[in-house]
Amino acid sequence: MSWVTEIARPEIVALKPYEHASWEPTLERLHANELPWRALGDPTAAGLNRYPEPQPHELVRRLADLYGVTPDKVLVGRGSDEAIDLLVRAFCRSGEDSVLVCPPTFGMYSVAARIQGAEVVSVPLLAANSFALDEGEVLERCTADVKVLFLCSPNNPTGNLLDEQAMLRIAARLAGRAVVVVDEAYIEFSDSQCLSRHLGMLPHLAILRTLSKAHGLAGARCGTLLADPEVVTLLRKVIPPYAIPQLTLEAVLKLLEPGQVAVSNAHIDLICTERDRVATALASAPNVARVWRSDANFILAQFKDPDAALTASREARLLVRDVRSQPGLGHALRITIGSVDQNERLLEALR
Ligand code: PMP
Repeated sequence: MSWVTEIARPEIVALKPYEHASWEPTLERLHANELPWRALGDPTAAGLNRYPEPQPHELVRRLADLYGVTPDKVLVGRGSDEAIDLLVRAFCRSGEDSVLVCPPTFGMYSVAARIQGAEVVSVPLLAANSFALDEGEVLERCTADVKVLFLCSPNNPTGNLLDEQAMLRIAARLAGRAVVVVDEAYIEFSDSQCLSRHLGMLPHLAILRTLSKAHGLAGARCGTLLADPEVVTLLRKVIPPYAIPQLTLEAVLKLLEPGQVAVSNAHIDLICTERDRVATALASAPNVARVWRSDANFILAQFKDPDAALTASREARLLVRDVRSQPGLGHALRITIGSVDQNERLLEALR
């Protein structure tokens, strides 16, 4: 029995997936109960009257190229949020299994766990050590019921990269026991390399990537799971058959042309330059107690009077994120790096 069959929910392993209408674009479709006419104003090439291709081949191929893996290691969903949900649903039995998270971190991991009825095991990042991973405690708390671990690097909302060697050591220790998910939603804003290069040695590693951040496509809803082909096959049983809307597919393919990727790269450079400028400027603002180093497109800063900072930014018609309710964050706010003009207005307001 493979490790996936051993640890995934037995109902999902045994599940016979929904048989969607076959995808044969050279033939005319009288097999999917669609209308033969396009709706007025339909802007797509393929026609919104037709169901889209399940796991669109060209999109999977382009994303595989973008992320440097083979297409059999790619699952595309509506944002990486969908992949988080699929992983938890496929691996955690309600009332029996657990998900391990390292707060403060992205909230959807524990929300997905709770929706599924899985227990949430929390191993906080070490706030006194720049939010480093508590490797020993993660391993200690990874009991047999923990089926999925979420490690976020760079982490949201703290902005730091987690130590790559620590993540790999954790993954090596959990081989065959749990899926170790590394969420790299913000990795393009760092100098770090995608961990997908370790998938061959560590087939229970799964990497989350998204077009929502560095590629400026949050509204398109397109996220990617990079994982062992057996995990991809399992999750394809769970994802709805026509998950990627035709509008998204066509928009994303256009925006993944080489010229457009070059534009994304220029945006990344600008955001990183602005991030470093804003961090320096914030550090000398009278209301700011501390600015953490960030490898993402946002900055976490500790304020002496966070309510005053929130009011001042709203008065400048700018929203920043109040993250004070998260463990270890005290008086911190999370500030997304915007355009040069927006950043200037925010700095002005916070001074
Ligand atoms: N992971 C992290 C760490 C995030 O911050 C976010 C969005 N804020 C997501 C995943 C989800 O992104 P999306 O669904 O847009 O791909």
